[in-house]
Amino acid sequence: MLKEPITTSVFDLFKIGPGPSSSHTIGPMKAAFDFLQRAKALPESLLTEPLQIKIHLYGSLSATGKGHGTDRAVMAGLLGWLPDTCEPTAFTALLKNTDDTYPISIQAKPITLTAKSIIFERSRYDSPHPNTLVFKLICNGLIISEEEYYSVGGGFIQRKGEEDIRAAANKVPAFPFSTMDELIEQLAKNKLSLTDLMIANEMALTGLTRKEIYQKIDDILETMHKAVKRGLRHKGVLPGSIKLRRKAPVLYEQAKSHASATDSFMVFLNAYCMAASEENAAGNIVVTAPTSGASGVIPGITYLLRNHYHYDKQKLREGMLAAAAVGFLIKHNASISGAEMGCMGEIGSASAMAAAMLAYCAGRSIETVEAAAEIAIEHHLGMTCDPIGGYVQIPCIERNAMGAIKAYNAYLLASSGNTGYQKISLDSVIKVMRATGKDMSKKYKETSQAGLALSATEC
Ligand code: SF4
Repeated sequence: MLKEPITTSVFDLFKIGPGPSSSHTIGPMKAAFDFLQRAKALPESLLTEPLQIKIHLYGSLSATGKGHGTDRAVMAGLLGWLPDTCEPTAFTALLKNTDDTYPISIQAKPITLTAKSIIFERSRYDSPHPNTLVFKLICNGLIISEEEYYSVGGGFIQRKGEEDIRAAANKVPAFPFSTMDELIEQLAKNKLSLTDLMIANEMALTGLTRKEIYQKIDDILETMHKAVKRGLRHKGVLPGSIKLRRKAPVLYEQAKSHASATDSFMVFLNAYCMAASEENAAGNIVVTAPTSGASGVIPGITYLLRNHYHYDKQKLREGMLAAAAVGFLIKHNASISGAEMGCMGEIGSASAMAAAMLAYCAGRSIETVEAAAEIAIEHHLGMTCDPIGGYVQIPCIERNAMGAIKAYNAYLLASSGNTGYQKISLDSVIKVMRATGKDMSKKYKETSQAGLALSATEC
């Protein structure tokens, strides 16, 4: 094995939390929460009043953090809120007015947080990651504690000097793999289905039972489908200066009224994906799949599979595990972060995961599952991230629908003919993805400084 084995949990990839951006919302909220816990653990003797907290946002967090709600996320974390439990209405109400104040305390010493506590740094900063946050606890004018965090995509964070803050540290998967080739080898050697291998690894990493894992997947699917249902109902304009009108309810009505039309299946799928994605843009609760920006693709596909194909619970659970396997491989060997890979890291990954899910749920071979994921990534290579105004709206919302349609076609293409004739492997295309992401100009990696973002004046 060339690389360390994958030790990510399915539930770190699929996380429940408020939109609109996992790297700009969920990650920063977790970083702020972590900093708060560390500050609370400091010796009381160091905490000389008055106390202050300053948060510096760099790179993509600074460039698009306003539109993505990074300031609200940081504030929420410092208030002790976490993404999966925070109340979306209270979350979206944070920092509504510039003079709003938020009192907190560290070991009974008061601190008042305001919008001014959060600084969107425009200066360059020598950081190993484009999504960097620096937290400082200042006591009587002296910096007592300083922590640097990187929001590395999909809501995952790392603290400077630490590998992965999740630190499932010493846990070892039952059937280690770091590439698709190794995964296929493990399946063959141990005569396992992909479902059983993924479950065994999840049990080893998290200590959960099979039943508990399935229950958690059911909860994830329910949250995804609630977002779809809400989005199909909610009309009106999305938050932000673009004043973008929601489209999912219109598409849904159109699909229902032309249900016998040859393309109605695609209109339904478009409606489902855009519904969840519009809920994300509104800052409501979604599931990272693998990111919040891409949180419409898999919910849309699974909603279609459940309601049109009438797939049962177990089939969907297994499809989610196949999707997770592909998400792990991309996260491990490239990245799922728009700030590192452009949109191919977000929608491209979601599309590949969905393509694998479709193939697996249809009972195809592992080689077809691999080919479906490979084809989906191949046709997202080089896709830039240039959201207008820094809002996860244009091109993001429609892009979720496009990612799902591409996933479906990737599954169809992979399912026809002999997979032995497939020239490009999933491992190869992930390597290409990584190299392309590295070569891509920074302007196209979630900074809103180029591409579509420059057409903002036309909106
Ligand atoms: S363009 Fe893609 S990567 Fe960028 S914010 Fe939108 S969905 Fe995320």
